[in-house]
Order: sequence, then structure tokens, then C-alpha cells
Amino acid sequence: KADRVRSATTTIFAEMSALALSTGSINLGQGFPDTDGPDFMLETARQAIADGINQYPPGRGIQSLRQAVVDHTSRHYGLHYDADLEVLVTTGATEALAAAILAFVNPGDEVVALEPFYDSYAASIDLAGGTRVGVGLFGPDFVLDLAEFERAFTAHTKMVLINSPHNPTGAVLPPEQLAEIARICVDHDVLVVCDEVYEHLVYDDATHVPLASYPGMRERTVRISSSGKTFSATGWKIGWALAPAELITEITAVKQFLTYVSGAPFQPAIARALNEGDDWVAELRVDLQRKRDLLAEGLRSMGLSPALPRGTYFMTTDVRPLGYHDGLEFCRELPGRCGVVAIPHQVFYDNTAAGAPYVRWAFCKRDEVLEQAVERLAKLG
Ligand code: PMP
Ligand code: GLN
Repeated sequence: KADRVRSATTTIFAEMSALALSTGSINLGQGFPDTDGPDFMLETARQAIADGINQYPPGRGIQSLRQAVVDHTSRHYGLHYDADLEVLVTTGATEALAAAILAFVNPGDEVVALEPFYDSYAASIDLAGGTRVGVGLFGPDFVLDLAEFERAFTAHTKMVLINSPHNPTGAVLPPEQLAEIARICVDHDVLVVCDEVYEHLVYDDATHVPLASYPGMRERTVRISSSGKTFSATGWKIGWALAPAELITEITAVKQFLTYVSGAPFQPAIARALNEGDDWVAELRVDLQRKRDLLAEGLRSMGLSPALPRGTYFMTTDVRPLGYHDGLEFCRELPGRCGVVAIPHQVFYDNTAAGAPYVRWAFCKRDEVLEQAVERLAKLG
């Protein structure tokens, strides 16, 4: 196969979800909730289909959704964008990431990214012919070393990809680190792509601050998010990118030839959710924090020491106390041993040794599902 798709094998999410189905296991692997988003959002999509909103929408997304994205960003963060020129609706954050990388990264360009990285980053950088330069957010603490981050920059650095709240570690970069990351990006005059799909899923005293809000950043940052996590609608694949008009124009040019446009009847529904769903999301956050604690307690009771994530709906454990050194081997055996599926960290690393002992567990599931998973896992202890 072509060199540029060398990282494009079957994703670990597809492999593990198939294993969950074939073994009847509880799936704490792939990150999707097992309950739906707000009723009014679902009803709006049903009505849109009934009303005949079923043909190609405008390329950049329908006006009311672009306006809702802009209003939401200004309401939550005081960051202002133009709904006509500075927003692009995409087929999930995945497409926004791919289009942004393909639009700006040339063969030979380097892309600095926090490692572990979400799997599509590696594939999209490969498709563009770029080179990944990982900066470790390694266990057991998953804390970024800013000196190492700065050392990653070379004359070839074209783009920096930041993901916070971070998948798979659940780390939320604190404001003082974001300020330093911003300073370094400005000093080196690079383009920044910020993946903020978990922007609203933060716990305890964590707050999410978009990198674009720091001095010198708005003009160089593509801020990407998605409705999948915020409104529990991962299958609708409605995401967006916000950036200065010149950048959005280039990303749109690529998007046209990836998918052309994105899901017509879902767009008015997500527009409504963004405009009217703040209370629903606030409840989701409280609920997820409780679920996080429930799963953490269960994992502790089997002798594991989960690092409590401050964001996302994923929790990480080191599986060495269970006699494994390789998380992939653990995850492939776990369904057969006790009927639970999890995701090995190492698939998110170039430095697989750094990720080998860690396993990620999703807690965006109904309480009874989490409780049953904990019961099954107790058999391993
Ligand atoms: N970035 C991160 C960090 C993710 O975890 C995910 C999906 N789970 C995505 C991007 C992709 O989002 P979408 O489903 O909207 O394409
Ligand atoms: N982002 C989700 C996760 O990290 C899954 C998305 C996918 O299957 N590509 O689990």
C-alpha cells in the first residue's frame, strides 16, 4: 500500500468494539455514551427530516449553525468570530483535523503534538506527508514538560497540535502551561491546531481555556470542536473549525473534496443544542463526574490505582499490578477472561514502550453498566 497510509490500519476502536460485540462484553473501550442527547435536539433532527431538510446544505454549514457556534464560543470564552467568514462546519472534528492538516502541512514539514495522540492525528499527518514530533505526556503522572515541548521546535516546525482536555490521559492543561505554550508558539511563529472536543467535560476545579484566547494566538489558531461529546451524539458527526478568514478559506477548499458538505438534518438540531443546551451540558458534567468516581472506586477495589482524570470521559490505569506488562495483550485477553473491553494506550504512541503498561477505560455509560463491569472485573482481582 502507499507509504502515506502506513498508519492507516484498522483502528483500535473498531477492533475492540467488534470484540465487544462478538464476545458479548461490556464495552468500556470506544468513547461513546450509551444514552442520547437532549430530547429537544433529537426532536429537531426528526422534524428537519420530516420537513425535507435532506439535500446538500451549504458548503460551510447552514447559517444558523455557524451563528450558534460563534455565539457559544463568545458566551463561554469571550472569544469572538465572524459567522460568515471564520467558521466551517465539518463531518466531525476528525474531518476538521484532517482538512486543517492537509491544508497547511507539506511533505517534510514537522508537526509537534502531545504524545499520546488521538489516532487520527498520526494518520492525517502521514496523509499530508508530514513528520510527527511527539512531546511526551507520559505516565504515571501525564504532565507536560514545557522545556521538552520547546526543544521539539526546529526550523521545519509548521504546526503544533494541542489537545486539551486530552484523550486518552484525561489531562487538562492548566492555564499557566497554556500561557507558556502560547508564548512558545508565538516566538516560533507556527500555526496551531487546537482539538477541544472535550471542552465541556471537565471535573473538580478544572476549567477549560481555549488556547486561542492567549495573546498572539487567535490569528494563528484553528480551534476545533464537535457536537459528538458535548451533546452525546457521536454518530451524527457534526463538528466545526473556527479560525481567521484566510485559514478557514484554505481548510474549506480541502473539505470540499473530502466530503463536500456535512449532514443536513443534524445541523439545525445542533444549532438548537448549542443555543439552548447549556443546562443539559452542565447536568451531563455532574453526572459524568459521579460516574468517574464510581468506576475509579471499582478499579481501586481490584488493586488498580486509576489517575482521576480532570477532563474527558476516560480513565487510565497501569495494569502491571494484574501481572501484565503489555496493555494490548491485556485488552485482547480481557473480554475472554471477564467480558469487559478497554483500550490499550500504546496505540496512541510512537514510543510504544512509554504507553505499554497503560489501559484506558471509558466511563460515559449508564450506572448499571458501570456497576456490572466492575462486578465482572472483580473476578480478575
Ligand atoms: N479528537 C479527539 C481527542 C477525540 O477523542 C475524538 C473522538 N472521540 C475526535 C477528535 C473526533 O471527534 P468526531 O467524532 O467529532 O470526529
Ligand atoms: N474518539 C473516540 C475514542 O477515543 C472514538 C472515535 C473513533 O472510534 N474513531 O474512543
